[in-house]
Amino acid sequence: MTLNFSLLMNNEIQIKKGLQLRFRPYELQLKHAFNLAKSSRTATPAMLTEIEFDGIVGYGEASMPPYLGESIDSATRFFNSLNLSQFADPFRLDEILEYVDDVAEGNCAAKAAIDIAMHDLLGKIMQKPWYKIWGFNADDAPFTSYTIGIDTEEIVRKKVAEADGFKILKIKLGRDNDVEMIEAIRKMTDVVLTVDVNQGWDNKQKALDMVYWLKELGVVFVEQPMPKAQLDDIAWLTQHSPLPVIADEGVQRLSDIRKIHGVYSGINIKLMKCTGMREAHQMMTLARALDMNVMIGCMTETSCAVSAAAQLSPKVDWADLDGNLLIANDPFSGVLVNNGKVKLIDQPGLGVKLL
Ligand code: MG
Repeated sequence: MTLNFSLLMNNEIQIKKGLQLRFRPYELQLKHAFNLAKSSRTATPAMLTEIEFDGIVGYGEASMPPYLGESIDSATRFFNSLNLSQFADPFRLDEILEYVDDVAEGNCAAKAAIDIAMHDLLGKIMQKPWYKIWGFNADDAPFTSYTIGIDTEEIVRKKVAEADGFKILKIKLGRDNDVEMIEAIRKMTDVVLTVDVNQGWDNKQKALDMVYWLKELGVVFVEQPMPKAQLDDIAWLTQHSPLPVIADEGVQRLSDIRKIHGVYSGINIKLMKCTGMREAHQMMTLARALDMNVMIGCMTETSCAVSAAAQLSPKVDWADLDGNLLIANDPFSGVLVNNGKVKLIDQPGLGVKLL
């Protein structure tokens, strides 16, 4: 009897599969055309992932705005090149994600789709949300900004009206109507403002003059005011600026932080730039140790990736987690925004459900 039993166990171990990856393309439909300093679009290609282990499924997502160079094709190639079934222990997360990162250069959003699904899976196995696993207090979750893209005064007014209830608005600047945009918004609301210039200003003195003017109008920080290549100009601006200057396009991964320390006041961490939650957590820790401000942001994303980013939010200075609110076809429910504040859900993993 004992012999038969152990033979049976051996067979079971042999047929037990490792991690199983599934993926499918998904087009995120934007509620409004999204106009930035250098681009405009009405949809964003995305890839939804699932990683299954022992009957439990973790969800992930890659959001791929075209200007970042990834696509459904590149993500499909990347996922097909992975062999996750070789891993029979999902808790060896470092090893698994290092393997994924080493398979090919770039592909940061596709890598994030694996990282996010792995975190969701592990959280579900442990039956705890990641903010708890990391030791954070959900009550410390910040207010999130709501983004207003560059547009005509009429559309801007409509969007500001829609943002009723949000305590912080993030205004996209960097075209030729910056002053009109801010003045139109200030006529409608006195909430806190932040601005994101998306590299749109190229003269440091003009940029500094704008920052002083914006401060008078209640703006609390300026994101990526100048082209990321103009490091000396940005360092000069940061040194003279009365407001924090935050890197977005100018910082991507953990290894970039040392290069921009002293150039910017802080960093905007996005899962799609930095390959996911594991590296985002490391970036937050390093930036804090270097006395830099930390912001958590997102692309246009479903509630899956936004809920993943939100797990870090109790420890950031500012959150810009409105990506799921800007799309019309969110296939998930997850993190909520309550009176403008990020509301983390006490559910395992990312706390997301496929609708
Ligand atoms: Mg930005």
